[in-house]
Amino acid sequence: MTVVYQRVALIGLGLIASSMAHAMRQFGLAAEITGHAKSAETRAIAAEIGLCDRVFETAAEAVAGADLVVLCVPIGAMAAIAAEIAPHLAAGATVTDVGSVKGAVVEAVKPHMPDHVHFIPGHPIAGTEHSGPRSGFATLFQNRWWLLTPPEGADPAAVARLRALCEGMGANVDEMDAAHHDLVLAVTSHTPHLIAYTMVGVAEHMRRVSNSEVIKYSAGGFRDLTRIAASDPVMWRDVFLNNKDAVLDILGRFTEELFVLQRAIRMEDGEHLHAYFTRTRAIRRGIIEAGQDTSAPDFGRVARVEGKGTA
Ligand code: NAP
Repeated sequence: MTVVYQRVALIGLGLIASSMAHAMRQFGLAAEITGHAKSAETRAIAAEIGLCDRVFETAAEAVAGADLVVLCVPIGAMAAIAAEIAPHLAAGATVTDVGSVKGAVVEAVKPHMPDHVHFIPGHPIAGTEHSGPRSGFATLFQNRWWLLTPPEGADPAAVARLRALCEGMGANVDEMDAAHHDLVLAVTSHTPHLIAYTMVGVAEHMRRVSNSEVIKYSAGGFRDLTRIAASDPVMWRDVFLNNKDAVLDILGRFTEELFVLQRAIRMEDGEHLHAYFTRTRAIRRGIIEAGQDTSAPDFGRVARVEGKGTA
C-alpha cells in the first residue's frame, strides 16, 4: 500500500479514531498520525498503547501541519472543535469527519472552515457497541460502506484522495448528498437504535414491576436488541438531537405499521402476518447477498471476534 497522507490528525480518540489508526498503520496509509482527545485519561491511554505517533493536549496543536484532519468526536462537539482548529489548518489540507449525521455536521463545521481547506464530510457505516481508545481494531471497516457527502464544487482530487484512504482501510465508498444520507440512515440505523432502546427499556420496566426473569431467560431477539441498546449514550443522544426531522418522519411510519400489525394480531389475521413476515425475510436475504452480514446461525457470533454495530 502507498502512503495517502503524510500527516493525519485524529481529533477524538474513541472507537472510530482508534480503528482508523490501527487500519492506517496496518495498511501503511499515513506517514504520521497525531491525535487529541478531551480528557487527560484518554490521551494517556492513546500514548501508552501507541495509537498515535504524537498526542497533543489541544486540538489546535494536533492539526498543525496535517494534510488530513478527521473529526471523530460526538456530533454535539463538532462546532467547538471546528472553531478551535480553524486558524491552525494548513493550506490545502482536507478536513473530514465520521459523524453519523451529516446535515447537522455540515451546519456546525462549514462556517468555520477557511477557504484554503477542503471540507469533505464522511460517515463509515461500521461500529460496535464499545467505545474509547482501546475499543478499535484494524478490520472494523473491511467491506463496510463509507459514505462521503462532498459539497457542490468540492475539489475532485481532494475527494479522490480521501476515497483512496477509505478504500485503503478496506471500505467501499459511495457519495451522496447530506440530506439523503440522513434520511437513509434514519431508516437503517437511527430508528432501529431507538426501537432497541425502547424495547430494552420496556423489559427493564417489566423486570422492576413484576420481578420477571427477562435477563436470565433472554432469547435471541431481545439479546440482540440489548447489544444495540448498549451503544454509547452521548453519541446516540447527539444522533437523535441532530437528525430530528428524518427520525420523526420514519418513527411516524413505524408507529403506523405497528398499529396495523397490532390490529392483525387482535383480529387473528394470520394471512396478513404471514405475508408481512415473508416480505421482511426477503430483506434479510438481500442484506446477506449484499455481503453486509453473515447467514451463519446465531449471526456468526461464535466465529466472529468482534460484533458489528449498525452505526
Ligand atoms: P467514542 O468511542 O465515544 O469516542 C469519542 C471521542 O471523542 C473520545 O476520545 C472523546 O474524548 C472525544 N471527545 C468528545 N468530546 C470532545 C471534545 N470536545 N474535544 C475533544 N475530544 C472530544 O466515540 P466513537 O464511537 O468513536 O464516535 C465518534 C464519532 O463517530 C461520532 O460522531 C459518531 O456519530 C461517529 N460514528 C460512530 C459509530 C459507532 O458505531 N460508534 C459508527 C460510525 C460513526 P474522551 O475520551 O477524552 O472523552
